[in-house]
Amino acid sequence: MKKLFRYFVVVVIVVAVAVFVITRLPKNNNSAGTKNSQTSENNYVVSTEGDGSLNIYFLNVGQGDCSIIVFPDNKTMIIDSGNNYSSNEKKISEFTNKLNIDTFDYLLLTHADADHVGCMDYVLENYIVKHVFRPNVLSTYKDAKNLKEGINVGFTDKEGGKTSGSLTYYQFLFALQNEEDCVDEIFNKDSDFSGAYSDGEKVFEYKFDFLTPTAYPTAVKFTNANDYSPICTLTYNGVTVLFTGDAEAAMENQFLSYYSTYPDCDVLKVGHHGSESSSSQAFLNAVKPEFAVIQCAVENSYKHPRQLILDRLRAMNTTVFRNDNNGDITFAVTCSEGYAVTADKFLCAVPDLSKNYIGGDAV
Ligand SMILES: [Zn+2]
Repeated sequence: MKKLFRYFVVVVIVVAVAVFVITRLPKNNNSAGTKNSQTSENNYVVSTEGDGSLNIYFLNVGQGDCSIIVFPDNKTMIIDSGNNYSSNEKKISEFTNKLNIDTFDYLLLTHADADHVGCMDYVLENYIVKHVFRPNVLSTYKDAKNLKEGINVGFTDKEGGKTSGSLTYYQFLFALQNEEDCVDEIFNKDSDFSGAYSDGEKVFEYKFDFLTPTAYPTAVKFTNANDYSPICTLTYNGVTVLFTGDAEAAMENQFLSYYSTYPDCDVLKVGHHGSESSSSQAFLNAVKPEFAVIQCAVENSYKHPRQLILDRLRAMNTTVFRNDNNGDITFAVTCSEGYAVTADKFLCAVPDLSKNYIGGDAV
């Protein structure tokens, strides 16, 4: 009887192990030509659509930031949107038409300044936007009292926080409250997301990581609006791109002191248009950029980028691309052949805006 029981236990264990192994085997029995999708442990669907390339377009919107990302699984993202000029709206429209983009799976507003938030109301009104990441910044514009509860959040001036009284930021929040089926998220260091592409044999994962703010919302308040910009990495196939918005030394220092190791960065979107208030030597030493992209306008009144920052980058043998000199800049990573940075004066048929720049608030 004892022997029989032992035999029974062994059989149960063998069956349990077999079931466990079988349920974890990859589903690779799709026939050629059919869609091969599987849900990974990270809760995204592995896509076989597209060609497996990741493309980042740093659009020339004059003095301001705007980048559009097409991920390997054909998902899309817009980070910032330049100043609130109709020419910038036209630029975004022409470019997205060219790429057949009518949906942004992700929208990241780094901070509330006009040269970043400018066209976000246009984007929300003219595209399907599925997920918004935005800073914890309160609108104090005179009509902000009419915003729905939950849309207007952030510290008050009294609490030592940075608020925004600008019309453009208010217009962004107003458009956001009318966006249906959109996830609205105040970003923090845990706002990461990921996705993947499969060529049928191998799975290639991309990951968008928010590295800062490291303590939000209670412990960190900045007096400078620029420092609400998150430091983020996008990694794909061993390549890392670092986004900084207009983060200045205070945010760079938060990043440097919070982490003990740093991403070795292939492309750096240089902070604050190449201003001396960002890109500290300690920060550049930590992330060691191979390439750098500076989003700025020809002959801008802020004199961005500053010579000191260009000298620092040159001393590190970093190759610099600039919207004012190079036009639109593309960074492409393939799943098989590495990566390349290229510049095209006009990726879409919209005139260069840089010389039309007439100033703006708080760049
Ligand atoms: Zn800016």
